[in-house]
Amino acid sequence: VDDRKRRFFRIRLAVLSTILVGVLLYAWRDWRSRHLRSDWRRTLRIAVVLVPSESLDEGAVTALKARTRDLENQLAHEMARYGREIRPFSFFIATVPNGLAAPTPVAPSDPSDLLAVLEYNWALAKWSDRVDDEAGVADEPRDATLYLVAHDGARAGMLSVEGTGQQGGRIGVVEIDLDESMVDIALFVVAHELFHILGASDKYAPGGAILVPEGLADPAQDPLYPQRRAELMARHRAISQDDSVLPETIEELAVGPATAREVGWLVAP
Ligand SMILES: [Zn+2]
Repeated sequence: VDDRKRRFFRIRLAVLSTILVGVLLYAWRDWRSRHLRSDWRRTLRIAVVLVPSESLDEGAVTALKARTRDLENQLAHEMARYGREIRPFSFFIATVPNGLAAPTPVAPSDPSDLLAVLEYNWALAKWSDRVDDEAGVADEPRDATLYLVAHDGARAGMLSVEGTGQQGGRIGVVEIDLDESMVDIALFVVAHELFHILGASDKYAPGGAILVPEGLADPAQDPLYPQRRAELMARHRAISQDDSVLPETIEELAVGPATAREVGWLVAP
């Protein structure tokens, strides 16, 4: 009888320990996913690390630096619409001087494959450490880092408009064919990934269609279409109920109410 009791106790202990580990894991993930949630009482310092993978057009780099200031202003303007006085972000740009030695890690195609995701995160951490060293920002204090991996624009058609923003993490990667005409779109995607880091979700369906009303810059606009601006997490500007176009300039960038709620700019039901 004592033996059976002991065995029962052990099984119960094993089950409870498993549950405890599960709860701790969940709590840790939850904490991790929230710890960059800002209370917006201070300006977040954001690094944009330009990683030119080939010889990059000098004009594009100059334009990128100038337009990054405009992006900062645009996001401050958007936040002000929600009654906030603070400048949300201060961007600084660093460049890897001699191009990239190591290729960008490739995200696993199946996000439910835990081992592949772990391997990818490990590779990404190693890659970003190395890039930080080469760009000279390893000791630079910052709240988040966006890596802009820029190919020269000659290989058109390789544009990927979705980067990798680790939701709740601290880094995002955007890979893009960059020439002067692509600078604003590149920065739009940088901001998109930054907002993923801050906890915002995509506002488009898997096929790319904008979610209505969450993906509309101004869901109260009358008439509703064409929308005058592009919602940041929808990536596109809705021109009709089933059609949308890429934004052309940073000035078209809008943070809609759904996204504003997710990042804590709009505290309302
Ligand atoms: Zn996204």
